[in-house]
Amino acid sequence: SFPAEAVPQAPEDALFGLMRAYKADESPSKVDLGIGAYRGDDAKPWVLPVVKKADEILRNDPNLNHEYLPIAGLASFTSKACELLLGPSSPAISEKRVTSVQTISGTGAVHLGALFLARFFKVNGANRTVYLSNPTWANHNQIFENVGIPVATYPYFDKKTKGLDIEGMKRALVDAPDHSIILLHACAHNPTGVDPTPEQWREIAEVMATKKHFPFFDTAYQGFASGDLDRDATAIRYFVEKGFELVIAQSFAKNFGLYGERAGCFHFLASPSPDAAGITTRVASQLAILQRSEISNPPIYGAKIASTVLNDKALFAEWQDNLRTMSGRIIDMRKALRSKLEELGTPGTWNHITDQIGMFSFTGLSEKQVLRLRDEFHVYMTKNGRISMAGLNTRNVDYFAKAVDKVVR
Ligand code: PMP
Repeated sequence: SFPAEAVPQAPEDALFGLMRAYKADESPSKVDLGIGAYRGDDAKPWVLPVVKKADEILRNDPNLNHEYLPIAGLASFTSKACELLLGPSSPAISEKRVTSVQTISGTGAVHLGALFLARFFKVNGANRTVYLSNPTWANHNQIFENVGIPVATYPYFDKKTKGLDIEGMKRALVDAPDHSIILLHACAHNPTGVDPTPEQWREIAEVMATKKHFPFFDTAYQGFASGDLDRDATAIRYFVEKGFELVIAQSFAKNFGLYGERAGCFHFLASPSPDAAGITTRVASQLAILQRSEISNPPIYGAKIASTVLNDKALFAEWQDNLRTMSGRIIDMRKALRSKLEELGTPGTWNHITDQIGMFSFTGLSEKQVLRLRDEFHVYMTKNGRISMAGLNTRNVDYFAKAVDKVVR
């Protein structure tokens, strides 16, 4: 019989299913707190003013064409993307210890990194396990599984404090076999909004150095979390300073609002050593081969927009301003939500709403409460109790707080 007959029905992606249900809901008071995409106070997608400008510059360029990019992508984009992470005066850059490949946004970067590690990061011929935070961005699991890397988890979210379970995390890192791959969210952890403090990052780095673990950083929210690009890169820069060999998957979806343009980058960084530049060159050659067979070369337009901004002083300053607008509005919504809940005397503590950072908040609401919010109040959020802060605005935050109050009581 035809082999396709044996293909079973797969479940719909939970997040995209939620988006579909929201669209179909005809209630005028419906609230979308599902997908992690920025919205303005008018609940609409926001094209960053600096992106509009870059777009106009590109469109008015008589030499604009739609040719292929090189396999590793647009060099004026990837070099600046790397500087953004490491800082422009990073010794890793001057010592040629880092190589960068443009990817299909952050997802493509995680995938290329996973594929590269599946091919080359082995001990006695066997793949190493990747340890993911519990919980993590749901896609991490399938991206690593797809390339045959075994997946395990380390404790991360403490249900009691709604903060970081640093002791549980460190214990798991100690218990993991030496040379494990540890996936770390550089800032604005998805889905919890809980980040380690600088002191906790130092402790994590220390354990990882002792255990010779391999850091795999995923950074999808630089500048979007605190509003400060350098501050949101602190953890990565600390690990680089400590001399780790590591990789970084970088997304420009959120911080440039370039979601559908798929602008991202994958970086490999070698530890300081006499052969570091040689290692980096060899890694680059292998990444090019993997990239060629996967996507041949990356999409051009989003990279050109980002490159236009990253290479122009005035536009860069304007971008920083746009980042402060987005992160500032989100921080304001955190404050508003917390104070409304406290005003209502909603049972429980709500300080975690303002302690957490970035696009998401892990509210602590149970699946049952989440489903009640959907059925009775037309509020759409993921079953784990995560809300996208960007879905809140001055017009719906009261409504949402009251709905939460009702389902918690
Ligand atoms: N990693 C994390 C932790 C994310 O939250 C996201 C976005 N949801 C991504 C990677 C990648 O997103 P994209 O492919 O849209 O850049």
